[in-house]
Amino acid sequence: MSRPLVLVTGAGSGIGRAVALALLGSDRDVLAVGRRPGPLEALVGEVPGGGGAVATVVADVGDGPALRRALEHGPHLAGVVACAGICRQARLDSPEADDVWREVLAVNLDGAWNTLRAALPRLEDGGRIVAVSSGLGKLGRAGYGAYAASKHGLLGLVRCLARELAPRRITVNAVCPGWVDTPMAAADLAAAAADRGVGTDTVRAEATGGIPLGRFVDPGEVAALILWLLSAGAAAITGEAWNISGGEFSA
Ligand code: NAD
Repeated sequence: MSRPLVLVTGAGSGIGRAVALALLGSDRDVLAVGRRPGPLEALVGEVPGGGGAVATVVADVGDGPALRRALEHGPHLAGVVACAGICRQARLDSPEADDVWREVLAVNLDGAWNTLRAALPRLEDGGRIVAVSSGLGKLGRAGYGAYAASKHGLLGLVRCLARELAPRRITVNAVCPGWVDTPMAAADLAAAAADRGVGTDTVRAEATGGIPLGRFVDPGEVAALILWLLSAGAAAITGEAWNISGGEFSA
């Protein structure tokens, strides 16, 4: 691996996969981290010709010591994209609320913390960190307490690290997507539909109706924003939370 190397968690599917492919296509190498070997192996098989190279690490971001062991003797990193996440719905009074709270916080918030703790010793001065939060990192939605708390927490972490790492010219930003067409969104819509006893098409139409541009965001569009935040042109931007939601979260 000889080009600038960017670590991407959750690289096996959805937004993380789109980020990895966009980086590989723009002459960057990728250290792809994910829980499941299959999707990471599939990513290796899709490396665009003439672009960057990909190495993989199978790890659960909830396991901080495992991540640190995997990265401690690794190469230097030009950037880190903390993208791995899960979404589970549970209202405060539901029987599974405690389990959902712990599961979601362990991946979305502890996972990002663990990733950045493990990666920081390898990150070059002037490097870049991008965390994938959510529109629900800024706003609330009934039934999404654990998820929204994790994504709000991530923005707090980003704003603190931006100040902490500024002396090393490391920028730290978040992206806050609205509905993005990924396996997570599909599963979330299916869960909401099952909960209400309606079809997934109905729930998707309602969600789309709340988006001024009238469509879900494509994972490649989120990847393009992240690539720009990783670029030299974004060197003066840090501690920010960038919405990308088709206008749904425009505040
Ligand atoms: P996705 O389910 O397609 O991808 C998530 C990836 O994270 C998967 O590859 C999964 O294996 C990985 N992952 C999950 N738990 C992990 C763990 N413990 N350790 C390592 N890897 C793990 O979902 P996505 O939509 O691409 O989500 C990516 C990020 O974008 C998430 O943080 C999500 O919260 C955020 N997001 C998604 C949407 C959306 O509508 N899809 C909206 C806002 C924010």
